[in-house]
Amino acid sequence: MATNRETPIQIRKEEFKKIGYQLIDAVADFFDTIEEKPVTTGESPRQLQTIIGTQSIPEEGKSVEEILTKATDLLFNHSLFNGHPKFFGYITSSPAPIGALADLLAAAVNPNVGANSLSPIATEIEKQTVKWLAELIGVSPNYGGLLVSGGNMANFTAFLAARTAKAPKTIKEEGMATVAQQLTVYCSKTTHTWIDKAAVLFGLGTNAIRWIPTDSQNKMDNNVLEQTIKADLANECQPIMVIGTAGDVSTGAVDNLKGIASICQAYDLWFHIDGAYGIPAAVIPELNDVFEGIQAADSIALDPHKWLYSPLEAGCTLVKNPNHLLETYSSHPVYYNFSTTDEVPALNYYEYGFQNSRGFRALKVWLTLQQVGQRGYIKMIGEDIALSKLLFDLANKHSELEAITQNLSIATFRYIPLDYRPATEEETDYLNRLNESLLNELQQGGQVFLSNAIVNGAYCLRACIVNFRTSKKDIEEIIAIIVDEGRKKHNQLLTKID
Ligand SMILES: *Cc1c(COP(=O)(O)O)cnc(C)c1O
Repeated sequence: MATNRETPIQIRKEEFKKIGYQLIDAVADFFDTIEEKPVTTGESPRQLQTIIGTQSIPEEGKSVEEILTKATDLLFNHSLFNGHPKFFGYITSSPAPIGALADLLAAAVNPNVGANSLSPIATEIEKQTVKWLAELIGVSPNYGGLLVSGGNMANFTAFLAARTAKAPKTIKEEGMATVAQQLTVYCSKTTHTWIDKAAVLFGLGTNAIRWIPTDSQNKMDNNVLEQTIKADLANECQPIMVIGTAGDVSTGAVDNLKGIASICQAYDLWFHIDGAYGIPAAVIPELNDVFEGIQAADSIALDPHKWLYSPLEAGCTLVKNPNHLLETYSSHPVYYNFSTTDEVPALNYYEYGFQNSRGFRALKVWLTLQQVGQRGYIKMIGEDIALSKLLFDLANKHSELEAITQNLSIATFRYIPLDYRPATEEETDYLNRLNESLLNELQQGGQVFLSNAIVNGAYCLRACIVNFRTSKKDIEEIIAIIVDEGRKKHNQLLTKID
């Protein structure tokens, strides 16, 4: 023991080893048997409150072994497992096992990656992680940036940098009062809801968002985009940025990024890409065409905790010219701050974004990138896409399913009772209701977890495969599960109507 002080928080070495190994054993068993468990138990908040009890904060401390065993038990028996091979809801991936070990290691050393002097090696590792992420998706390794908590924060971090770069220079001191013309931003109507929060948070207001319609493939209509920018300029607004989506959250569509890039160049606008979900697929050589234009982005948001399989939380903002981050988030001029004797000036991450004290998120991403390698990601992401296409094809062939869309690793489809062809509005409404209650049933049932998408007014089931445990067999099995539950639900609803 390195210290003589007796505190209730210390754990002696022998005990730490014993309970630590027990925990590792339990986690190893959990990973090994996850597919035998239900995806979720579907228990209600009230049931769960009863299980954990309603007692007040303990007055006296308890044995570590006892409380850790209890917590392990609670988590393994009452959680929803996004690492389950039949979990396809929203965009939440199976976590990489090495990420769990990395978080343990990071928490043990606990570097504060806000300042270089507090986290010398961690800062260098984060820098390298950011560079590798840029290389992985195929943009210049000179992009700079930082890790944040997720896609929302990654987009916010870029949004404020864009506002600082394009709004009147006095905005940092004077605030929005200095802005004579309404600042406007452009994105497709499929853009994730972070944009609403950003417009509120950074003072533009949600009326500043120009929601551009999409074409038949769910991509932003770039002609309407350009017309809208022109109309705003004529109306004395000041357009500042366009947001392209690389993998929209509902259907996985990737905007025509090259087209957006040239519009941004023509009108001197900041080009941001929200690639929180989809941009890792740019690693696949066959998809080069789909992602053409990303090299022109002024900023990119991506989420290692989605398709790169990092455990929550890990998002990343990449900025082509990282000085924009310093200009936005550092309170001192760049040149004065860190004149070190080193050939490379120290990077203090608190000057790159919103956080001051920062955890070592980069470690889990850095280690996973090394374990898997570029080729490993090409393989895994490619397989996820192939499984999604298989799901779409099986739905397409099935007489009681209608396949709707398939992009990247997202398939949407719906259940339609045999020989049921909706002709009237009422029948279309019924199908929407049927699929909604089918989804609720499936989400509670624990056999498979899907989410929903509304595509051209149709309520669809949506499967997003960012799951390295999923196999062909799982896809075939869920088709049977969905049809089976769909029939039951249809019969149930019919009886209710009668
Ligand atoms: C998931 C997602 C977000 C939000 O990311 P969080 O990590 O949940 O904050 C933003 N945009 C897109 C396109 C996404 O898929």
